[in-house]
Amino acid sequence: MNKFKHFSLVLLAATAFAASAVTPKVIAHRGYWRADGSAQNSIRSLVKADSIGCYASEFDVWMTSDSVLVVNHDSDINGIIIETSPSDIVLSQKLGNGETVPTLDAYLATASELPIRLVCELKTHNSRGLEKEAVKQILKAIEQYGLTERTDYITFSKDGFKNFIAMTPETSDVYFLNGDYVPEQIKFEGGKGIDYSLKTLKKHPEWIEQSHDLGLLVNVWTVDKESDMKWCIDHDVDFITTNEPELLQKLLKERSK
Ligand code: MG
Repeated sequence: MNKFKHFSLVLLAATAFAASAVTPKVIAHRGYWRADGSAQNSIRSLVKADSIGCYASEFDVWMTSDSVLVVNHDSDINGIIIETSPSDIVLSQKLGNGETVPTLDAYLATASELPIRLVCELKTHNSRGLEKEAVKQILKAIEQYGLTERTDYITFSKDGFKNFIAMTPETSDVYFLNGDYVPEQIKFEGGKGIDYSLKTLKKHPEWIEQSHDLGLLVNVWTVDKESDMKWCIDHDVDFITTNEPELLQKLLKERSK
């Protein structure tokens, strides 16, 4: 083998190694809610996600009928429909750990004291008007708490996705959750990446490389099984959203040895 060929092969091997050396970052889904005294989307779940060194904590945002942003996953809490109910009723509802439903304000106030990043999910509201107002108010609150640089936005709502991008022309840290868009469409719309279900990515693993080629990032949800975590690591996703952040951290640590 001549010297040039040898050099080329070494370079090729080094490139291949570098390409597979992406270490996914750990995102706690709805916070670290399986920790002691925690509950999904509670303030404690945010604090616990930070305490174990997660890269980010994901949480869900709804707007009440009187335009107060609250953190909760489902459209209702204890049967109270959030977007059609006034804030005083919604905010008096208790979570499983005894906390009341947090306002976005309270959640962000705590986050602003911690180093952890945020992944803020806008839920799809029945009222398009209320949802658009929610995007505006979320961005305003994030800015007020000095969290713009460390917050990404995700949503299933096509309107919400476009509204976030339109209202953040400088940063556009927006990912789409709805597997309807191929990476080229995300790029065309001005998003930062895809945040698709494991099922979608397993059906379209080529979207991972396509996204990277387009300069987009790839997040995947909700990955709780070790074998699935390994699949995601081997496929070079950038972020893994999980209900089992400590298991994923352990796996990543073992693999880095
Ligand atoms: Mg969510």
